[in-house]
Amino acid sequence: MANSDKKKNTAAHVAADSKASAQPKKKRKKRKKAGPIRKTLTVIGTVLLSLILVCIITCSIIAATLTVYVMQFRESSTIDLDLNNLDLAYTTFIYGYDENSELVELASISKSADRIPVSIDKIPQHVRDAFVYTEDERFYEHDGVDWRRTFSAFVNEILNQALYGGKQGGSTITQQLVKNITGDDDVGWERKMREIFRASDLEKYYSKDDILCAYLNTIGFGGSTAGIQAASLKYFGKDVCELTIAQGACLAAIPQSPNTLNPWADAEANKERQEVVLGLMLKNGAISESEYEAALVEDLEIIDPDAVALEDDDIQNWYVDMVIRDVIYDLMDYYGVDYDDASDMLYDGGYTIYTPIDIEMQEEIEAKFKDYTTFSSEVLTDPPQSCFIVMDYTGNILAVAGGVGEKAGSNVWNRATMSTRQPGSSIKPLAGYSYGIETDMMTWSSLYQDMPIEIPDEDNPGQTRSWPTNYSSTGNMTYSGSYYFVFQALQRSLNTISARIVQEATPSKAFEFMQNKYQFTTLSAYDADLAPLSVGALTNGVYLREMVAAYQVFGNGGKYFSPTSYTYVLDPSGEVILQHTYTPIQSISEESAYVMNKLLQQVVEGPNGTGRAAQLESTTVVGKTGTSQNWVDQWFIACTPDYVSGVWYGYDDNRTVKTGTYYGTAQLWKNIFGDIAKAGTTESFPECDTIVEKYYCSNTGLIASGSCPTGGIGYYKSSNVPAVCTSCSYSSSTAEESDAESALNETDSIFTAYYSINS
Ligand SMILES: [Zn+2]
Repeated sequence: MANSDKKKNTAAHVAADSKASAQPKKKRKKRKKAGPIRKTLTVIGTVLLSLILVCIITCSIIAATLTVYVMQFRESSTIDLDLNNLDLAYTTFIYGYDENSELVELASISKSADRIPVSIDKIPQHVRDAFVYTEDERFYEHDGVDWRRTFSAFVNEILNQALYGGKQGGSTITQQLVKNITGDDDVGWERKMREIFRASDLEKYYSKDDILCAYLNTIGFGGSTAGIQAASLKYFGKDVCELTIAQGACLAAIPQSPNTLNPWADAEANKERQEVVLGLMLKNGAISESEYEAALVEDLEIIDPDAVALEDDDIQNWYVDMVIRDVIYDLMDYYGVDYDDASDMLYDGGYTIYTPIDIEMQEEIEAKFKDYTTFSSEVLTDPPQSCFIVMDYTGNILAVAGGVGEKAGSNVWNRATMSTRQPGSSIKPLAGYSYGIETDMMTWSSLYQDMPIEIPDEDNPGQTRSWPTNYSSTGNMTYSGSYYFVFQALQRSLNTISARIVQEATPSKAFEFMQNKYQFTTLSAYDADLAPLSVGALTNGVYLREMVAAYQVFGNGGKYFSPTSYTYVLDPSGEVILQHTYTPIQSISEESAYVMNKLLQQVVEGPNGTGRAAQLESTTVVGKTGTSQNWVDQWFIACTPDYVSGVWYGYDDNRTVKTGTYYGTAQLWKNIFGDIAKAGTTESFPECDTIVEKYYCSNTGLIASGSCPTGGIGYYKSSNVPAVCTSCSYSSSTAEESDAESALNETDSIFTAYYSINS
């Protein structure tokens, strides 16, 4: 600092001199007699000299500033790299909090899990050479950084990025080791500089053998395999000291792209690269011509991956699987890298992940999923699969189960977050009903006819066909022609009325609504149509996780929070790199959410509700069942005052689930989650003061007058309260008569009359 200040002062001084100080004047005086040409030359000389001085001084200032900056950067880059204690440096930890808010380690993941350290003397010279001549030819000559290579790599990188968008090496073995240990995978010149400083440091304190040994012990060989010994056992079933030249070269072929160049992933690509490695060894005199020729044709005797048994100890739970995958995807976005690279970062990296898991709940749910009696009263030979997920009302995922039975391994297929399935009727509240309520297109007691609509017939161009019909317990396709109130139609899950609602909304508007309000990521443009939106026959299906996230608006006053399995993620330096922002979208108004909540309560509590089996004694349950065509997918999505959760079951290969083999989904939901829901501490769903609660006329669905028969209370948005019914008051005597009779017998004709007047 002091240095640069001094230089600045000098600069100021000189600048002043060149303008008006005494010295040049003196010179000019002295040379006055020398004539105009000489005078001009003198002036030019002075100006030039001044310019050069200014240049030199400016450059010095820049150089000094840069030096200070670099020194500071270097200081901030310094990190204690201990080659004797590598494991901790690159382990990623995943945490949650228990019921006493104590931090609990859920899992620690790293490639060192499979790593088996070996000392350098156990690694044959030809294996060391294979790596050195492939990765870093001048390894034994440089001081950690190969400047020649760094420069050419820099140029190459620019060309490469322009031509192929690809990555180009340029890193020495020492630099790669630094990267492996620190997990510093930032993209950009700052990381490169940090890496260069750290590599030079490493070379000061450790021998070339130490560095090569640490490198060979930490390098990735595909999947979670790290280190030369683990790789040797994995691919050849033998110790590293027994590797042949050809096999050593086969392993040295992997690090350039561990997940695509390993012999299990692509034997052909590996072989091609192995030949390059052998060529480099020959060129550098590590092997003779005859050794080279022999190695080229040697049978590598690679182990058959299918013959390797899965180890079942230390299997991660479903939650840990989920959060690992979620963080990998978000690292891809954050760093702009592909899945393999992001996965390597996480497993190499020494990250710390905090999750919102409810540890106790996760354990309970997993126990239910391991117990077949949760799903069926009988032991089935070929049972369907199932999954479950639960969130709080800010999108925090509390627990998840991705399959029935014992978990087969870590990072296996999780149906709750990875399978897209047809939602069937569970889509109805999202596309049609909440659209109709939110836009004031309909009310609690609007009337719709249980009758198919006419749609274009694909088989007979120019003609129409009637569509759809309703499911019935007997499997027959039916419709009654009767009129139903909105709350009844949802309670009974009538396809015909759902189709009418979407038709009235127009499919394009209902689609846009569903896409924007509930943030589904799997919808396709083809889904902006009647069948997808009214009965849930989508192009791609939906994830259970996204379905449950969508339903949270019905239990929290209309707010959509994107679902998350982590709260934040720290990189190895302790900096927060990923943080979930709990910023909701107000998907539907509080009033609409309140009405929807009451409508969905009818599904569980109403006399014809399809979700009646989910009822709990002391806790309100609101929800919706869903069944896709041919009973392939079965759903129940439910809100209780504390949680929003959902269950799906079906076969992975889309076979029909035979009726009666599994419990119905509402019952299944209760089996899995009933006890947990009952133990919740929130007493009720959010209230809404502006909601209008009034008796509706059971003839017209309008607000009941004194002379109307009424079936009960309706819930209305303040912006959309129906008019008071006047139809029933014309002849109070006949109204009394019809009151006395069974109203249902009369309703059809009255509804028809009402409709012809009002529609
Ligand atoms: Zn009336």
